[in-house]
Amino acid sequence: MSDVIATNQTILVVGGGISGVTAAIEAAECGKQVILVEKNPSLGGRVSQLYKYFPKLCYPSCGMEINLRRIKANRNLTVLTMTEVTAVSGDSGSYSVTLNTAPRFVNANCTGCGECEKVVEAEFDNEYDYGMNKRKGAWLPFNMAYPQRYVLDARILGTDDAQKAKDACKYDAIDLDMQESETTLTVGAIVWATGWRPYDADRIQPYGHDRFANVVSSVEFERMLDPFGPTGGKILRPSDGKEAKDVAFIQCAGSRDRNHLRHCSRICCMATLKQTTYLREQFADDFKASVYYIDIRAIDRIDDFYQKVQDDPNVTFIKSKVASITEDKASGNPILHGVDTEGYHRYSNPHDLVVLAVGMEPSVAKDDFPIDVVVNESGFIEADKANGGIFAAGCSSDALDVNRAVQSATASALRAIQVVNRVAGAEG
Ligand SMILES: Cc1cc2nc3c(=O)[nH]c(=O)nc-3n(C[C@H](O)[C@H](O)[C@H](O)COP(=O)(O)OP(=O)(O)OC[C@H]3O[C@@H](n4cnc5c(N)ncnc54)[C@H](O)[C@@H]3O)c2cc1C
Repeated sequence: MSDVIATNQTILVVGGGISGVTAAIEAAECGKQVILVEKNPSLGGRVSQLYKYFPKLCYPSCGMEINLRRIKANRNLTVLTMTEVTAVSGDSGSYSVTLNTAPRFVNANCTGCGECEKVVEAEFDNEYDYGMNKRKGAWLPFNMAYPQRYVLDARILGTDDAQKAKDACKYDAIDLDMQESETTLTVGAIVWATGWRPYDADRIQPYGHDRFANVVSSVEFERMLDPFGPTGGKILRPSDGKEAKDVAFIQCAGSRDRNHLRHCSRICCMATLKQTTYLREQFADDFKASVYYIDIRAIDRIDDFYQKVQDDPNVTFIKSKVASITEDKASGNPILHGVDTEGYHRYSNPHDLVVLAVGMEPSVAKDDFPIDVVVNESGFIEADKANGGIFAAGCSSDALDVNRAVQSATASALRAIQVVNRVAGAEG
C-alpha cells in the first residue's frame, strides 16, 4: 500500500458494492484521483450474491462486468481490497485517513489457477453463501471476483495446509509472511458506501430460523438459485434435499416491528415478488407460492411487476402477519399459524419451505464510524451539513434498490467532486 499517492484533491470511497463502485468510477471518469477501499477480498458487495435483479430479471454479473471493465481502464482509480478505514480526522477539503489492510497471503502473481485450493484440506463456513456450505482455507470468493486472486485463510497459517498451498503454487504467488499494513493518507472528500446487512433472522424467535432447517431467509434463498451456490442452483429443502415446490414467503419478517427493525426496507416486497418467479422458472406449472403480507409495497413498479406476479395462478397472496411457525417432526414441514385478516380465518398451513423476507439495516453501526456522522433513528447516514465533506452513497443512506443506490452514488460522487474542485480552486 506504500505506493498509494493521495492529496487533498483525492476522493476516498469506502465500500466496494455497486454504490461504491459507481461513485468511484463516476468520479474517476471525471478526471479525479479516487481510492476505493473494500473490506472483503473482492468488489461487488451484496448484489454479487443475488441470482437475478428485479424488475428486468437480468443477472447482476452483467452490470458488474461492465463496471469492472471501466475500473480496469481507468488510471485515476486505485482499488484496495481487504482494507478498512480505522481513523478519520480533519474537515471538508482535508481529511487525514488511516487505512488498515489485512494480509491476503497471496500476491499479484496469482493467476487464479486454483491449484492451492485443491491441496488445502481445512474447510470453513462460506461467508459468501451465508454459511450454508463450506469453502476451503484457500479460496476465490466467487467466480467473477475482482481482483481474480485467491485468499489464504489466516487460520491455516502454521499448519501443513499453508505449506501445501505454497508448494502447489507454480507462480510463487503465496507469501506466508505477508503482514497487516497501515497507512495514513490525506484526502479531500469521502464517499461512504458501506451498504447494508440483512437483519439477523435468528432474532425473530417465533419463526424458528435458528431451529427449523426448512426456514431460510430471503438472502439465503437467493444463494440457493446460484448454479455455483450451496444447492447447485436447485430449490431444495435443507433438511432432506427434496425439491421445495410449495414455498411460503413471509413479508416484514422483523420489519416495521418495534422489537426488531422499526423501518420498512421497501425492497423486501419486490424481492419476494421476484423470488416467486424463480419457482416458475424452475418448476414451470408444478409449484405453489404463498405470500403472507401486511401490505405489498412494490415501490414504483406496482403496475407492471406486481401485476404480472398477481396474474400467476400459482401464486397466492394471504393478507396476514404470521404469528408463529412450528415444525411437523415427521415431514420436516414448517407449519405457519395465524389469522387471515380478509375473512378472519385461523390457519395452520404446512409448506415445504419458508422464506423470511428480512429487512435491511446499515452494515456499520452508529458507534463504529471512524468519525462522527449524523444518522437517522434507523442508523442510515443523513444528508447533513455537519457531515462536511463526507457523503453517503447507496444503502449506507437508506434501504434502496440498485437503481436508486446507483442514483444516490452518482449524486455523492458529484458532491465529492465539488469539494475537491473547491480545494483545487483555492490552491490556484
Ligand atoms: C433479498 C434481497 C433481494 C434483493 N434483490 C434486488 C433486486 O433484485 N434488484 C434490486 O435493484 N435490488 C435488490 N436488492 C437490494 C440490493 O441488494 C441493494 O440495492 C444493493 O446491495 C445496494 O448496494 P450498496 O453498494 O449500497 O451496498 P452493499 O451491496 O451492501 O455493498 C457495500 C460494500 O461495502 C463493503 N463494506 C462494508 N463495511 C465496510 C467497511 N467498514 N470498510 C470497507 N468496506 C466496507 C461491503 O463489504 C460491501 O462490499 C435486494 C435486497 C434483498 C434484501
